[in-house]
Amino acid sequence: MTVTPPRASAASPVQAFLQELLERFKPLRDGAVATYIPELAKVDADGFGIVIATVDGQVYEVGDSRLPFTIQSVSKPLAYGVALEDRGPERVAQAVGVEPSGEAFNSISLEPGTGRPLNPMINAGAIAVAGLIGGDTPAARLERLIGALSAYAGRELAVDEAVFASERDTGHRNRAIGHLLRNYGIVDGDPEPALELYFRQCAVQVSCRDLALMAATLAGGGVNPISGERAVSAATVPSILSVMTTCGIYDFTGEWVYRVGLPAKSGVGGGIMAVLPGQLGIGVYSPRLDPRGNSVRGVAVCAALSAELGLHFLRPPRVALATVRAHYTLAEVRSRRRRPPAEAALLAAHGGAAQVLELQGDLRFATLEPVLRQVAHSAAGRECLLLDFKRVNHADEAATRLLARLIDDCAARGEQVVLTRVKRGELLAGLGQEVDPRHARAYGFQSQLDLGIEACERALLARHGGSHAPARLASLAEHRLCAGASADELTLLEAALQRRSLSAGQVLMRRGEPSEALVLLMRGELSVVVPLAQGGTRRLATLSAGMALGESALLAGGRRSADVVADTEVEALALTPAAFAQIRRDCPPLAICLLHNLLATSAEAVERLTAEVAALEA
Ligand code: GLN
Repeated sequence: MTVTPPRASAASPVQAFLQELLERFKPLRDGAVATYIPELAKVDADGFGIVIATVDGQVYEVGDSRLPFTIQSVSKPLAYGVALEDRGPERVAQAVGVEPSGEAFNSISLEPGTGRPLNPMINAGAIAVAGLIGGDTPAARLERLIGALSAYAGRELAVDEAVFASERDTGHRNRAIGHLLRNYGIVDGDPEPALELYFRQCAVQVSCRDLALMAATLAGGGVNPISGERAVSAATVPSILSVMTTCGIYDFTGEWVYRVGLPAKSGVGGGIMAVLPGQLGIGVYSPRLDPRGNSVRGVAVCAALSAELGLHFLRPPRVALATVRAHYTLAEVRSRRRRPPAEAALLAAHGGAAQVLELQGDLRFATLEPVLRQVAHSAAGRECLLLDFKRVNHADEAATRLLARLIDDCAARGEQVVLTRVKRGELLAGLGQEVDPRHARAYGFQSQLDLGIEACERALLARHGGSHAPARLASLAEHRLCAGASADELTLLEAALQRRSLSAGQVLMRRGEPSEALVLLMRGELSVVVPLAQGGTRRLATLSAGMALGESALLAGGRRSADVVADTEVEALALTPAAFAQIRRDCPPLAICLLHNLLATSAEAVERLTAEVAALEA
C-alpha cells in the first residue's frame, strides 16, 4: 500500500477551509462559458480553483489553482495603474472618468458631451487606457504592459496568441467603441493600435494563483509579497482600488460591495481577483459566467469567503495592537554605560525626567494618535523623550507629519528628543523637512536603543551638574575596589598588580578565553561587547576609570563570556588568581576588603537589573 504524503500545508485550518469551500461549490454548475470570443468557448467548463495570498507571502491554494486561462478584464485596473504612472492622473482623467456606469462591461457608456468613458473598468474606458500606456512603439507599449502584469504576478506572463487572434478577428463591438473614442478625440488617430494592445492585454495567460498574488500585491501597497518586487507605486494603489470598488463588477458592483465588500475585478475568462487592503488577495477561477459576465462560482465563493472569514472591508479590524509596546523612564532603566557613584546618584534623582516609549506596528493617524495623547499627558517635568522604532516598519506621511509636530512641541517646552532604531530609507524620510528648522538641534537619531538611552543620560547630566567620570585616577587609592584599604595594604596590592596599556581599538580579552585576571581600570574607557547573529556587535557595558571587570577570574576555571575592547587609550592593573591567593595568605583583611567592594558593585548591578526587568514587564 502506498501512502501519499499530506500536502505541505494540509495541517492548516485555512487550507482545510478552502478545500471544504471547493467541495461545497463544485455542484454549482449554473451559467455558461463565454462564447462571444470563439476561442474562449474551448475551455473546460468545470475548471475550479481558489487561492488566498497574504501580504506576507503565504499562499493557500486548492483545486485548479495553476490552470492557465486568459486574464481578460481582470487586467483593466492594473493597466489603469500603468497609465496613471506613465501619464499622470491629470492626463488620464481627460480620457476616462471614475464614475460607475451601472451598465454591462461592453456598454457604450460615454459622458454626454465629452465622449469620455465613464470609468476604466468598462471596455470603452479600458480601450482609452490602452491608448495611454507609455512607450514609443507598439512593441514597447506591449512590453511595458506585460512587464507590469508580470511584476504583479511575480513571474513572466505571456499572451495566449490563439485567444488574442480570436478576439481581434471578432471584436467588432470593441472596434466600434474604439472608433467612437476616436470621434471624440479620446484616442488620437487610428484606434487600431490601442485596440490591438487591449486585445493582447486581455489575452494574457494567468492562473488563479497569479490573480491572488496580483491582488495581494495591491493589498500590500504595490509590492509582490513573494518576489519583493514593486509592481506599482504605493501612491497609485488607492486609485486602482477605488475604481475596483466602485466599478469592478460592472452592473453588479453595488450588490457586490454590499454582499462581499472587497475591491474586485472579474473577467470573462472566468477569473475574479479580490483585494482586502493591508491583508490579503483572493483569486477564484471558474469559467461559467452569469448573464453579466461574472463567474457564477467566483461570486458565490467570494461571498462565502467574505462572510465566513469576516473579510468585508467596511468591517476592518480595530486598531487593537497598542502602539506603545513599553513605557519606562531612566529612573528604572539605564544605558549599558556604568556610572561612577556621583553620576549614578544624579541619574537616580533625575531619571524620571527622561521617558522612553518603545513603539510597534505601522504608524498612521489611528495608531499614532494614542501615542501623541500619552506623550502630551506625561509632559509635566519631562526633559528628555526617547521614541524607539525597532518594531515600526512603516509610517505614512500623516504619521511623519504628526511626529514632526510632536518634536516641535517637545522642543518648544525645552525637551530633548531622541529617535532610536529608525530603519534607514523610507521610514520617517520626510521628517527633516517637516520639523521646524529652529528645532533641528532639539532632536537626533541613534542606531541603538542603548545608545539613545545614553544620549538621554548625557542630556540629564548636562542639565543637572555635569559629568563626574574622571578620565584617569591619580592613584590606586581612588579606585572603588580599594575603598577602605590602608596605605600599607595599597602598597602590598600595588606590588601584586601587573600593568597593562592598550591603545584605542585594542582587544583586552576575547570571548571563550580562560579568565586570567581581574582588571582594575585606571585610565580611559573599555567596552564589553558580544557579536550579534545578524552581524555587528552589542555592547553589554562601558566602563571608565575607577571600575573593575573580569571578577570571574577569581573563581576557578572561568572563561570570558564577551570581548573587551579599549574605546580610548587605556591603562589598567591586572590581578591574577595566583596574586590574589598570595594576598589571601599574606594579608587576609585586604582580600576581604577587595571582595567586599566587588560584592558591593555586583549587588548594585543586580539591583539595577531587577528594577529594569520589573519596569520592562510592567
Ligand atoms: N476582452 C474582453 C472584451 O473586451 C474582456 C471583457 C471582460 O472580461 N469582461 O470583451
